[in-house]
Amino acid sequence: MGKVIGIDLGTTNSCVAVLEGGQPIVISSTEGGRTTPSIVGFGKGDVRLVGQMAKRQAVTNAENTVYSIKRFIGRRWEETQTERSRVPYTCIKGRDDTVDVQIRGHNYTPQEVSAMVLQKLKQDAESFLGEEVTQAVITVPAYFTDAQRQATKDAGTIAGLEVLRIINEPTAAALAFGLEKQDQEQLILVFDLGGGTFDVSILQLGDGVFEVKATCGNNHLGGDDFDNEIVTWMIERFQEQENIDLSPDKMALQRLREAAEKAKIELSHMASTSINLPFITADETGPKHLEMELNRAQFEQMAGLLIQATIEPMIQALKDADLKTQDIDRIILVGGSTRIPAVQNALIKFFNGKTPDRSINPDEAVGLGAAIQAGVLSGE
Ligand code: AMP
Repeated sequence: MGKVIGIDLGTTNSCVAVLEGGQPIVISSTEGGRTTPSIVGFGKGDVRLVGQMAKRQAVTNAENTVYSIKRFIGRRWEETQTERSRVPYTCIKGRDDTVDVQIRGHNYTPQEVSAMVLQKLKQDAESFLGEEVTQAVITVPAYFTDAQRQATKDAGTIAGLEVLRIINEPTAAALAFGLEKQDQEQLILVFDLGGGTFDVSILQLGDGVFEVKATCGNNHLGGDDFDNEIVTWMIERFQEQENIDLSPDKMALQRLREAAEKAKIELSHMASTSINLPFITADETGPKHLEMELNRAQFEQMAGLLIQATIEPMIQALKDADLKTQDIDRIILVGGSTRIPAVQNALIKFFNGKTPDRSINPDEAVGLGAAIQAGVLSGE
């Protein structure tokens, strides 16, 4: 039997992993990333970019670039009105009430778009392993309905993958932290702040089995919002300095967005960072360069309300599970945005000093957990 891969098919990023010698390992993409943006860019003719390359042209080719397709998979047209109004690409009502996307005269179901991302992950896994891969375990949010789970499975089939099992993301994360091996019953809070979504789940572990006690979250809260705060700040500063509005300039915006994310990531381990974007624009006096310093305190000020917004869903999840903060035995961090020190500090404060477990890379935990489950299913 060939290798079974584990896939975290995320809203903004995906991660593929495999069990090697009993240990789960992340498979890097051919571009060298440990996660792959869940983005498909449609160029002219048959040109199709998936992952990092698609992200790089997302702003300048907005109407032909599909991101966040996970917000539509397995959902009916009628229930997605708000989501549809938020994306720059064209959505049309498909057969069976699906939310299809229309790109360059072609219609694609969310399953088909997701399959393009899965296909890329499958190919990357195959070139890493040096063999064909035909089976996978894929994760979904704990709150996904049967229809959403089935549609995710169908996406796998379209990509040429037999989906052996669909498992819940918080459960996969808990597996990655090795929690199922622990004997004592415990309550685990999974705090998952990714690129576009925030999910809190409370799991109960007993006899090596996880039960989801409550889930709550905010479908529009994540790293992209932090990036947008920095972009807005840069645009305002540039306007003050040069009296030029960069916001209508798509090429400039793409660069601002990339620089914002880079600055944000640097501020997770540095007190201050420089943003340098030469030739960002030009006027009659010649080319203009953007040069700014951003420090962590300024960033935390911009991000304050966003970070504050993670608290309410935790209160709600605890209430739904009929628990108090002190009942939680363990907190685990999932999603790249939990690397932000201020996010961790807010969480620690909410739990009266209890510190989260940070032993596994937060953006890889779900994929690694999927690989562990995949290994179990393939008898490793
Ligand atoms: P995920 O979807 O879990 O891969 O999370 C992606 C989000 O995490 C993106 O918005 C990234 O910019 C963000 N991210 C990744 N690494 C860091 C970091 N070191 N500090 C802050 N945000 C990060």
